[in-house]
Amino acid sequence: MNTLRLRVFPDPILRENTEPVADFGDELKDIVAEMVRLMRVHDGVGLAAPQAGLSLRLAVVLFEDTLHVLANPELLSSEGEQDGEEGCLSFPGIFGNVRRPERITIRHRDIDGTELETTVEGFLARAFLHEMDHLDGRLLIDHFSPVKRAMSKKKLLRSRASGEEGQPATL
Ligand SMILES: [Zn+2]
Repeated sequence: MNTLRLRVFPDPILRENTEPVADFGDELKDIVAEMVRLMRVHDGVGLAAPQAGLSLRLAVVLFEDTLHVLANPELLSSEGEQDGEEGCLSFPGIFGNVRRPERITIRHRDIDGTELETTVEGFLARAFLHEMDHLDGRLLIDHFSPVKRAMSKKKLLRSRASGEEGQPATL
């Protein structure tokens, strides 16, 4: 397949509707491999398909040497709350607090199309929800206050800088 490239805000594809993954064949495996490559090149720990220019309900999260492939994920339940700094590969240099549930259970398919229910907590819950937001066109800055959102857009458009040292993981 063609090499994918990272899409950065305000690329319109980040807001577009995504289609469910229907075909769990070799093409999907190529797409996932290419998304993982792109995520690693940009030092991310998670990447959703729209960030790679594909309007698909598909995301990858690589955490503690485990690759999670989330195809057609749906949130089944959530509990608790956590606050934490979040970054996004599509918003280089932008970070901010996002309140998320502490623990979630999702239903999704893996790379072979097997249906799974997965329960995760802490950082993985945050990462999964961040990627699932992308599949609905919901972006990091949508979680910010209006003032912080306006400042973030300004900073992004002004600097176009890549991630800074010592910042939280980018998703
Ligand atoms: Zn993101």
